[in-house]
Amino acid sequence: MNRGNTLKSGRKEPERVILTMKKIFLIVLDGLGDRPNVELQGRTALQAAYRPNLNRLVKDGQCGIMHPVSPGYRTGSDTSHLSLLGYDPEKFYTGRGPFEAMGLGMTVLGGDVAFRANFGTVDTNGVVTDRRAGRITSGTDKLAEALSFSVDGVDFFVRAGVEHRAALVMRGKDLMDRITDSDPHEPGLRVQEVKPLDEKAKFTADVLNKYLALARKKLADHPLNAKRIKEGKEPANELLIRGAGQAPSLTPFSELYGMKAACISGIPMITGICRLIGMNSIAVEGATGRLDSDFRAKFEAAYRTLNDYDFLIMNIKATDVAGHDGDPIAKRDAIQRIDAAMKDIGKILQDTVVCVTGDHSTPCAMKDHSGDPLPILFNSSGIRKDRAKLFDEISCTYGTYNINSGDVMKVLLQLSDRAEKYGA
Ligand code: ZN
Ligand code: ZN
Repeated sequence: MNRGNTLKSGRKEPERVILTMKKIFLIVLDGLGDRPNVELQGRTALQAAYRPNLNRLVKDGQCGIMHPVSPGYRTGSDTSHLSLLGYDPEKFYTGRGPFEAMGLGMTVLGGDVAFRANFGTVDTNGVVTDRRAGRITSGTDKLAEALSFSVDGVDFFVRAGVEHRAALVMRGKDLMDRITDSDPHEPGLRVQEVKPLDEKAKFTADVLNKYLALARKKLADHPLNAKRIKEGKEPANELLIRGAGQAPSLTPFSELYGMKAACISGIPMITGICRLIGMNSIAVEGATGRLDSDFRAKFEAAYRTLNDYDFLIMNIKATDVAGHDGDPIAKRDAIQRIDAAMKDIGKILQDTVVCVTGDHSTPCAMKDHSGDPLPILFNSSGIRKDRAKLFDEISCTYGTYNINSGDVMKVLLQLSDRAEKYGA
């Protein structure tokens, strides 16, 4: 800062403020948006919540309405987070496979081909008799371990999920996701040979068929299956795969925006997306990705992280969990606890732009994601204020913005004095 030089005349030059670029803290309350709830006298969970800190940020800052991807879209958390971070999912989203694998905590790199998978049961003729292997509940982690090996220079990784679910990741040169499923999708049908849908995918299909044959043998010989047969249970003797998707090779976030970036998230899929674009993931003890998450620990970790990074995205999943549970009271209470946990947010506003929004709406009445737009707020020292006073879906329509999630990074760059001038 220039404190003003004394001129020859004895008068002081006016004090000039040299603009410095601010840091950015993007807080994503997952599934934040809601619809009116009977249990809350027709209010959304956010409207019904006691939220003095969120309201103060709106009153002293700017807000508006944000559409996930674009108006009318019902998005998943994967597509909406990509969009929020400025990676257009319509260009980069390659199907659920890679993102479900990330959701199980698997490392997925650009170029990997990933699948959703089931442990199923097949008879001696290769006909699927049960796509869920008798709803197997335990031991699939051991099976997954046995199925993680290499074939012809391609590494295969399997991770078990809940019950019969799993994911498969292929890593190697010249892989391509234009291939068919091995899963026939119906019991009573034979396991399918994987076929290329493109000349360039022939190697992928061939090596995958080879792998699946070896995997079948490993499963048949596995002691867990011998035990299951002895107990009269369906053996998990086939890995049924579907939904091949190639993880996109994305420009690292730091290269795209010139910011050193980190993420804090209790859910593996979001952490996986952030890692895919080169962000560092900060682990927080007590962050569970559930309603019982330690929100205060997350905010304390966030303030510490912001000392070392220019950009931080933090996902809080509890709001989405309550939405899926169809529990507006739990959603309201989660928002209240998040609001209370952010009581010290004012201390970072001097050199940080804070943004609070969601990735999509998860109305309790719907128990799933909807395309309803979300409130969004921005605050930092010296920010221009607008007329809105409260942080919720309705009040924020009085605010400055009506934007798509793909515009959020642009607004954040502008407010943090990082935007490049367009034109002369
Ligand atoms: Zn979400
Ligand atoms: Zn959800």
